[in-house]
Amino acid sequence: MKSERDRVVCFHYELYDEDGELKGSSRGKDAVAALQGHGNVVPGLESALLGRARGERFEVVVPPHEAYGMRREGWTTRVSKKNVVEARRPKVGMSVMVRAAGGVRPVTVLKVGSSVVDVDMNHPLAGHTLRFDVEIVEVREAQPEEIAHGHVHGPGGHGH
Ligand code: ZN
Repeated sequence: MKSERDRVVCFHYELYDEDGELKGSSRGKDAVAALQGHGNVVPGLESALLGRARGERFEVVVPPHEAYGMRREGWTTRVSKKNVVEARRPKVGMSVMVRAAGGVRPVTVLKVGSSVVDVDMNHPLAGHTLRFDVEIVEVREAQPEEIAHGHVHGPGGHGH
């Protein structure tokens, strides 16, 4: 079965920046499960997943505008430490998740105060050309409920 719109594609990946530095990986975790055609992954990766079948391995180079966009200079804000998720002692340069309007998002710590943190709101991978090394582990039909929600349920997807 090949990946097409409204099918679920499960894959492992390693993600590198343009310097060849490893920036992320699903190895040792659940494979990522994405509902094809619903923007569950960045656009450049989503289009590269189209038409793939289980067992395929490939790499795709994705420019910033098809990944996390361009960096916006000076896009910083101050957040309460209470809104920093899962990092008890944020340090300068660290990527952390913060609660902000629109949900939880990854940011980079610029300055740490006693109760607040100044952060760069750009996605840590904004402005980078990314290379994904991908291995397709499963392609399956989606459940009607998954298509209605626009995402996959279960391991690698949503757990609600
Ligand atoms: Zn759902």
